[in-house]
Amino acid sequence: MNTATIPAGLGDAAREFLAEPKRLLIGAEWVEAADGRTFATLDPATGLEIAQVAHAGEADVQRAAAVAREAFEQGPWRSMRAADRGRLIMALADALEAHADELAQLESLDNGKPLGHARYVDVAGSIEHLRYFAGWPTKIEGAVLPVGGDQMLCYTREEPVGVCGQIIPWNFPLMMAAWKIAPALAAGCTVVLKPAEQTPLTALRLGELALEAGLPPGVLNVLSGDGETGAALVRCEGLDKIAFTGSTAVGREIGAIAGGALKRVTLELGGKSPNIILPDADLDTAINGSFQAIYFNAGQACNAGSRLFVPAAQFDEVTHALIERARAMRMGPGLDSATQLGPLVSAEQRERVLGYIDSGREAGAELLTGGEAALPDSGGWFVEPTLFATDSDELRISREEIFGPVLVASPYDTIEEVAARANATEYGLAAGVWTRDVSSAHRLAALLRAGSVYINQWGSVDPAAPFGGFKASGVGREHGRAGLAQYLETKTVWTAL
Ligand code: ADP
Ligand code: MG
Repeated sequence: MNTATIPAGLGDAAREFLAEPKRLLIGAEWVEAADGRTFATLDPATGLEIAQVAHAGEADVQRAAAVAREAFEQGPWRSMRAADRGRLIMALADALEAHADELAQLESLDNGKPLGHARYVDVAGSIEHLRYFAGWPTKIEGAVLPVGGDQMLCYTREEPVGVCGQIIPWNFPLMMAAWKIAPALAAGCTVVLKPAEQTPLTALRLGELALEAGLPPGVLNVLSGDGETGAALVRCEGLDKIAFTGSTAVGREIGAIAGGALKRVTLELGGKSPNIILPDADLDTAINGSFQAIYFNAGQACNAGSRLFVPAAQFDEVTHALIERARAMRMGPGLDSATQLGPLVSAEQRERVLGYIDSGREAGAELLTGGEAALPDSGGWFVEPTLFATDSDELRISREEIFGPVLVASPYDTIEEVAARANATEYGLAAGVWTRDVSSAHRLAALLRAGSVYINQWGSVDPAAPFGGFKASGVGREHGRAGLAQYLETKTVWTAL
């Protein structure tokens, strides 16, 4: 490895991790891909290679699925005392906490996000998620059912779904891994986890920490690879369930294939989430929150507030304040402590976002600020925080998920109008309302067709609070009891007495 490409800001632990070969975790072993293939993971702030990583292919998927199957059928994981399973998940959370700075540095380097966000959102959120689900194994209860009179004992058991393929995206790599594995592990499932090809590092480190924490080998397997690796997982007959977070296009494909095979499937997909400022809102709070809603993580969040609706009378005031803030944002590498806006994750993602910006310009939307690639000398994939104004709900930038720092603001006149316009989207992941009036807030909360509605804040998340999409934004929920349920099968046992 060319260590010249490893930037300042990495501690010794992260450097040591990067100096080791990046292989696949199958059972208790770290192995090269069966066909020896590797791919490069790149630093989005410079475009330079960070490390070569094993590229799992079909044979590796089959092998990992078989090992996870054996761990599920024969291993101690699902049959151990629930309290012990919880303790091991807790030990994994503790291991993450002990390595929190290292994980945050690796995440910031691999994804580009500001180090503080990586540490206090991604890593802290991952730890919290594991701790929450570590409490569940002892609370997974069946019921005794009052059926069949006194000649019958009828009860239910909540059993693990089985072996789960889990495919995660690059925007919050470690946290998406934690969101996926925590409920699966709590339920007693075993897992083959596939991180995104842009950001494999923290999932591989997570695999090491899981073994160190004492998870039985085969319970968590980690296969770095790309969409082909993911597709092989989806096709793999040895898996009982696929859980996916990513683009709606790939989610549709996965849903169709899993449906054909009658595999369990949960999907957390895209969004074009409407954010509505009502005329009586506290404007400072609304502007601050709406700004964060789109530009946090450079807009690379499925629940980004990417569509802003502002009362016509306040439109100029709100957009001016947003423009000022956007222009003041410090762009730079995630590992630089002054950075507020990191690069996009990849050259491909930057092209996609710049393509949307061009389409907005060409379609006649008014570009209020931004609109260009930035920091060209860095070699990284920076895009200026961008704001468009348009009356139209029909433009591609008004309808499609951009997944970048691009906000599309539109004026409106009445609440009835804005509720209808906010719902006129194929997506339904999140929606927001800013108001001082509790009646309007909760009337709108009921009307908006979205899995999460944010009132006077944006983007709150907690392992106990269900998260997921209506409509094309997904199938199923993560977090809380609802999230756990997606990893359980109910069995009914009838006994003649
Ligand atoms: P993006 O286009 O933003 O990279 P994707 O939905 O393509 O988002 O990627 C999310 C995750 O899905 C990644 O781990 C990626 O490797 C994986 N993936 C991509 N294509 C497929 C596919 N056809 N089947 C299964 N997984 C896939
Ligand atoms: Mg893709």
